[in-house]
Amino acid sequence: MTSNEWNARSLDTQRFTELAGSIRLQTLLTDLPRVLEVCTDTAAVSTVPPCDWSLDGQIRGEGARLQQWMHLQAALSLPQTCQRCLEAMPVAVQVDRWFRFVADEATALAEDDDCEEDLLAMSGEFNAFELLEDELLLAMPLIIRHADCQPPASTALIDDLPHPFAALAGLKTPKP
Ligand SMILES: [Zn+2]
Repeated sequence: MTSNEWNARSLDTQRFTELAGSIRLQTLLTDLPRVLEVCTDTAAVSTVPPCDWSLDGQIRGEGARLQQWMHLQAALSLPQTCQRCLEAMPVAVQVDRWFRFVADEATALAEDDDCEEDLLAMSGEFNAFELLEDELLLAMPLIIRHADCQPPASTALIDDLPHPFAALAGLKTPKP
């Protein structure tokens, strides 16, 4: 099966892993609504190159110990705003993670604490776009700011000015 024959919005995860399925996609930021929502530099959104991402299914082990795995890789530059100087700042986000499929959500929850890999529930209509958005959001840095920048001059000036009431206080004549 070639890449284009798989529907990334509705994947049969059993078949995808058994057939070692492979998907290569380029998706516009505007087609990733939850990721778009956190982009603070809205003016730059239309200039961002599409997200390059891929999914690869894999079977590991044999017989009763057969395991179904999926590899997700993605790269995207997000138009953000520096939290210190408030200037535009593209943030490169990368995802490179393996997931193991288990029978259902309950199994995923039960086993999640005991294993290092990420678990997903098997599905006949798995939406890989949802997973991609989750992982891109998780990969975003918590603090977005340039390594070396200054707060905007205007804010710095306001902070340095004496408080107007402090000046008034000096004019008050002491009561007799
Ligand atoms: Zn900055």
